Amino acid sequence: MHGAGIIGLSIAWRALSRGLDVTVYDPDPGRGASNVAAGMLAPVAEAYFGEASLLQLSLASLSRWPAFAAGLGDVGYRTDGTLLVARTGDDLRELVRLRQLYTDWRLPAHKADPRELEPGLTPRLRAGLLMPGDHQVDPRRVLAALRERVPVTGQLPDADVTVLAGGCWTPGMPVRPVHGEVLRLRPAERSGKPTIRHVVRGFLDGKHVYVVPRSDGEVVVGATSAERGFSTAVTAEGVRDLLDTAIELLPELGEFELTEARAGLRPGTPDNAPLLGWLDEKTIAATGHYRHGVLLAPITAEVITALLLDQEPAVDLAPFAPGRFECRSSLMD
Ligand SMILES: Cc1cc2nc3c(=O)[nH]c(=O)nc-3n(C[C@H](O)[C@H](O)[C@H](O)COP(=O)(O)OP(=O)(O)OC[C@H]3O[C@@H](n4cnc5c(N)ncnc54)[C@H](O)[C@@H]3O)c2cc1C
Repeated sequence: MHGAGIIGLSIAWRALSRGLDVTVYDPDPGRGASNVAAGMLAPVAEAYFGEASLLQLSLASLSRWPAFAAGLGDVGYRTDGTLLVARTGDDLRELVRLRQLYTDWRLPAHKADPRELEPGLTPRLRAGLLMPGDHQVDPRRVLAALRERVPVTGQLPDADVTVLAGGCWTPGMPVRPVHGEVLRLRPAERSGKPTIRHVVRGFLDGKHVYVVPRSDGEVVVGATSAERGFSTAVTAEGVRDLLDTAIELLPELGEFELTEARAGLRPGTPDNAPLLGWLDEKTIAATGHYRHGVLLAPITAEVITALLLDQEPAVDLAPFAPGRFECRSSLMD
C-alpha cells in the first residue's frame, strides 16, 4: 500500500482483517488531506447535477459507516443531519434548484425552519432544508484509530501487488491538488453546551460556508476551494472570508477562540469521481476521492480488498475505472 491517508489505511485495515499480508508505505504520513477534512458524510448535501454514479457510491459507503465506525471505537460518528440555509433571493433560488435535484433523485430532504432547529443562527435567513440522512465523523480520530490497527513504514517494501493511494500526489494518475482551507474554533470558556447540533451549510450572498459541531465543543468551519498547485499555505483572504461568513451565520462564533487554520489538498479528478481499479496485473489505483474521501473510505476499502482477493466487488466499478482517463501505472517514487 502506497499512502497512509484515510484511503490507504482503511484499505489496509480491511485487507488485514481478511487475512492478507499488507505493508503500508508512506514517507510522510500526516501531510494528507485526511488530516484537514471536516468529516461530513454527506451524500445528499454533496449530490450534484451529472454525478449520479458518484451519488450511488456515496450512499453505499454511508450505509457502511456505522459498522466501520463501530469497529474503530469512538471516532465521533454522529447522525444529526445537515441543515442547508439560504439568505438572499439568489441564495434561495440555489436552494430551490438543489431541492428539485434531491426530489428527482428521491433523496431525503425537507423544508425546515432554520431557527427552530438551531436557535443560534442569524434571524436573517429566508429558508432551510434539512437532510436527516447526512452524518459526520471526526477524521483525526478515525486516522488515529486506524494507525493503532495498521503500522506504517517509511521504507519502500517489495510487494506482489501495489495499491496506489497517494491522494493528490499519486503519480501517473489524472489527479490534481485542489486547495482547501479549514478553521477550528472552540468556545473561549468551556460551557459544555454544544453550539449547534446539526452540520449547517449556508449560502449567504453567494458565499458558501459549512459549520460542523463536534461533541467536545470544537467547531470546524470550512472550506475554501482554489487551484494553486501543491502549496498548503493558508491565505489571509481565505481565513477572513470563512470567519466573516461563519460569524454572519452563527453570531456567537465571534466569541470563540480560533485554535487552528490549515489547508489541505483534495485529490481532484476531471469528473470529480474516484479512480478505483486495476492499472495492470500488479497495480491497483485507489485515489482521486476529491471532496468525498472520508465518506468513501468504507466502500473503497471493501471494493479494493475484493479486487485483491480476486472477488467480485459489491458495487459496479465501471464508472470509476481508471482507464476512463489516461493513466500510467508507474509506481510512486
Ligand atoms: C478542506 C478539506 C475539507 C474536506 N472535507 C471533507 C469532508 O467533510 N468529507 C469528506 O468525505 N471528504 C472531505 N475532504 C476530502 C478528503 O479529505 C479527501 O478526499 C481524502 O482525505 C483523501 O484521502 P487519501 O488517503 O486519498 O489522501 P491523503 O489524505 O491526501 O493521503 C495521501 C497520503 O499519501 C502519501 N503519499 C504521497 N506520495 C507518496 C508516495 N510517493 N509513496 C507513499 N505514500 C505517498 C502522503 O504522504 C499522504 O499521507 C476534505 C478535504 C479538504 C482539503
